[in-house]
Amino acid sequence: MSPQPQAAGQEDHYLKRELYALMREDERLFDFLQSAALDGIWYWNLQRPDDEWMSPDFWRLFGIDPATQPHKSAAWQDLIFPEDRELALENFAAHCADPGHPYDQVVRYRHRDGSTVWVRCRGLAVRNDAGEPVRMLGAHVDLTALMRSREVLEQRTAELLDHNERLAEFGDRVAHDLQSPLGTLGLVADILKRADDLSGEATSAVGIIEQSIQRMKETVDGLLQYARTGTLQTHALAVSLRELIDELQVDLGAQISASNARLQLAKPATLHADPVMLRLILQNLLVNAIKYQEPGQQPQIQIRCDERPQHWLITVRDNGIGIPEGKLEEIFLPLRRAHGGLYQGTGIGLASSRRAAEAMGGRLWAVSAPGEGSTFTLELPRPA
Ligand code: ADP
Repeated sequence: MSPQPQAAGQEDHYLKRELYALMREDERLFDFLQSAALDGIWYWNLQRPDDEWMSPDFWRLFGIDPATQPHKSAAWQDLIFPEDRELALENFAAHCADPGHPYDQVVRYRHRDGSTVWVRCRGLAVRNDAGEPVRMLGAHVDLTALMRSREVLEQRTAELLDHNERLAEFGDRVAHDLQSPLGTLGLVADILKRADDLSGEATSAVGIIEQSIQRMKETVDGLLQYARTGTLQTHALAVSLRELIDELQVDLGAQISASNARLQLAKPATLHADPVMLRLILQNLLVNAIKYQEPGQQPQIQIRCDERPQHWLITVRDNGIGIPEGKLEEIFLPLRRAHGGLYQGTGIGLASSRRAAEAMGGRLWAVSAPGEGSTFTLELPRPA
């Protein structure tokens, strides 16, 4: 033992020499190291290739009792995936021929319960004086947990890509199914407007139709942007909440009168927000507040805008069927719905709305309980 500490990083540090000497004297240290740092070691006699000693940990990885296994290289051949065995054999041959070629690969084994066990397997050939490999020392590290989380991640990514693809398809359908009839409606409104015998009432009705068509076109464009690119450009302007709600009441006139819905607006403010996105969000929230009601129930919808130092909080509260707690986040994902049956829908409105809220630097969330109505809150940043 050297009493003199050596400089850090030096290969022959006195503690290293001490440790190596101790390990030669007391093999419990080696046992500790291999069981604490590794999931198995193996030592193979290349001169009698049938003989291979495996530490018990190796077998436990596959749910196998080590006591039942012989120390034979053939013992694990049935467990390893054949193509991974090929890879390991190639690396073994290359490592024997050239010590600079690492014997290092991740291979898969079949667990007793049928699942896959991922193991990183590294080895070092021990050579005789002539440089010929006579033994092989190997170490195993179980990577199964890591690989499983990678698989979950990959699956989620694939699901997300799939969702995006479905959204893009949805966008194309919207473009085709909505934009062309909207164009036709615009033409019809134009023809009507030119008719000589149109009463004053009819003329203003045509004006309303034209406005609704225009707004719907803007909404469709917004949705298309969501579906195709997933990124929205925002242009914040002063928007009167009162005017916006008045316009929406006109647009949703048919649903409002069919359900006899009552809308109340408290504390209207002039917001600084992207008008198209704000409309998209509020229209979705109002449509849902009217739609998700017990049959025959009169929708009571309260909209209010509270000013906070840094935010506006716009809430839309209804007296509808409510949303189960476990679904309060899920409903903001594309194509996810909490109710079916009576209640028709695409499951895209809230996803678009949340994305629009976030594109404006805001947030959108829901609070609800089944049978007790729902409250959706849109938080928008106030400019300094
Ligand atoms: P859609 O209404 O087309 O299904 P949305 O994205 O607008 O799509 O809403 C997603 C789901 O959230 C709906 O299917 C419904 O289950 C639930 N939901 C939304 N708004 C309400 C509400 N006000 N009350 C109860 N459930 C609602």
